[in-house]
Amino acid sequence: MATPKFVFFNGKVVPYEEAKVGVLTHALNYGTAVFGGIRGYWNDTEKQLFVFRPLDHYKRFLESAKLMRMQFAYTREGLADATLDLIRRHDYRQDVYVRPLAFYGDEIIGVRLHNLTPHLSIAALPFGRYVENEEGAHVTVSSWTRVDDNVIPSRGKIAGAYVNSAFAKTDAQLAGFDETIMLSHDGHVSEGSAENIFMFRNGVFVTPPITENILEGITRRTMMVLMRDELNMEVQERCIDRTELFLADEVFYVGTGVQLTAITKIDYRSIGTGAMGPMTAKLRELYFNVVRGKVPKYRSWCTPVYAQNGSGGTEKKDLKAVAG
Ligand code: PMP
Repeated sequence: MATPKFVFFNGKVVPYEEAKVGVLTHALNYGTAVFGGIRGYWNDTEKQLFVFRPLDHYKRFLESAKLMRMQFAYTREGLADATLDLIRRHDYRQDVYVRPLAFYGDEIIGVRLHNLTPHLSIAALPFGRYVENEEGAHVTVSSWTRVDDNVIPSRGKIAGAYVNSAFAKTDAQLAGFDETIMLSHDGHVSEGSAENIFMFRNGVFVTPPITENILEGITRRTMMVLMRDELNMEVQERCIDRTELFLADEVFYVGTGVQLTAITKIDYRSIGTGAMGPMTAKLRELYFNVVRGKVPKYRSWCTPVYAQNGSGGTEKKDLKAVAG
């Protein structure tokens, strides 16, 4: 993966090579960082790049930072503006991924969350698929348990907690699966390594509640709106047993990275017909139209990067203005 030319680093845009940290950096040693993941979608008809729900992503990002006792002068609007500016500087005209990171940068020995200095970076780079097999993934239920809220809270996108995801993902992939499903300590379905999960069973969409050690996903929220308001279907947030997934008509992952990925097999058991189901297919089509700004009703979720017909788009904004 090619690195970007510039990154936003502690309040200004610098060449990527200059955004460096030392080996004693607290976050590198103890995992004391939080991150985000945002997509920008290119709309070729309008020749416009739309960043999807940046304010919602930055709200969660700042909440994750708050869990880690990090205090910043940045607002979510300021961070969203800095992101648009960064994309414009690269003049990206393709799908992109944005990675904000807040980390304790002190070069000291001592594990803790207090009396440390938070730093902040944002990188933006061209990006395609996160899971190769979006149309029909074969996944496994992991033998690794999802981190509990009283271990490391999954609702904060905390870097150190992603070692839990990495164990599960690597074991799944080395065993030949596309992805994994993790259970919480009491055996209920939680989520994937980097994605939320839904099933469609007996005419109802079901997803685990936010108290099942999941990340409070923005795609999950997006899908719930589309399911209710566009497909006119019921959505339940409730605990799901592993074997309910085996009996479901359709199961799928949602997330910024995976977008909407059909799960057609779990541990060698076919889900439904064993091919992507009609609800998943409908939702995928709708979702991709929404994120590319093609559905007027949901256009407010899509923030344009470039100036369009006189509205928005302050090119090369002064970055000093975004702090505070
Ligand atoms: N769960 C986890 C563990 C994740 O890392 C992600 C990706 N951010 C998601 C769910 C999906 O969240 P979102 O839809 O906000 O990207």
